[in-house]
Amino acid sequence: MSDDGLPPLREVIEAHGLSANKALGQNFLFDLNLTRRIARAAAPLTGCTIVEIGPGPGGLTRALLAEGATRVVAVERDERALPALAEIAAHYPGRLEVIHGDALQVDLPARISGPAKIVANLPYKVGTPLLIGWLAQEPWPPWYSSLTLMFQKEVALRIAAAPGSEAYGRLSVISQWRCEAKRLFDVNRSAFTPPPKITSSIVQLIPRTKCEPACSVAALERVTAAGFGQRRKMLRQSLKAVFAKPEAVLEELGLDPTARAEELAVADFARLAVRLADQAAG
Ligand code: SAM
Repeated sequence: MSDDGLPPLREVIEAHGLSANKALGQNFLFDLNLTRRIARAAAPLTGCTIVEIGPGPGGLTRALLAEGATRVVAVERDERALPALAEIAAHYPGRLEVIHGDALQVDLPARISGPAKIVANLPYKVGTPLLIGWLAQEPWPPWYSSLTLMFQKEVALRIAAAPGSEAYGRLSVISQWRCEAKRLFDVNRSAFTPPPKITSSIVQLIPRTKCEPACSVAALERVTAAGFGQRRKMLRQSLKAVFAKPEAVLEELGLDPTARAEELAVADFARLAVRLADQAAG
């Protein structure tokens, strides 16, 4: 038995025939010390619903419950994992609800009432679309009060990148306009079964009460796509995709038309997005 009174995860996987399915991004964490460290990063775990995406055999789910989570709602696509998750639910009566479905389709805000936090070791293929969906949420502040998520290190670096750095791009702007974003720690590939090709990192995003300046997410996505789509070009050139006279717009906002997208602060992109929406309305 493990410390939590449940069988070791390797046994669970064997008993339920949970061989890793690559198409579902299945790289499992067996080390309860590591999963408990991830769970503690999201603390406090009481007084709210913890939403976990992709519990698989339940390594992180068990850690969340062992660290005191009062209620966990876990969304898993692979039906083979359901019996293993049912055993965890029976071990922690009334504290774990499992939704069998695709996290990209499940309407989570409709299923959860009261405060919530999202904690997940995300399947690589759907990690970024899920994050963008959570960040694009309206109204704002959103239904969750924090996101504690595992990504490939390269994606984690992009989420938290500062202007001027190589990793700074569209994902940095939307993440940091909406949230305070921090890379907490790295997780070596050897911690997973089977090991992925690259290192992973845990990032934490805490929604800002107000995203300033206020702008539409769609307009922000358009200006960042234009700017970073041609990141080696000067903005007076790259922003031609969205503004008829980009040089005039940039000057009006006190921005250097010869700068490149990576030199603009997050708030500057939001100011450009406001200008873009004004242009569309006018
Ligand atoms: N949480 C477990 C752990 O840390 O060991 C498993 C993490 S594994 C990287 C990703 C999990 O997400 C797998 O269990 C996989 O079946 C599940 N998954 C993949 N795509 C999904 C989707 N669209 N919706 C919900 N779960 C998904």
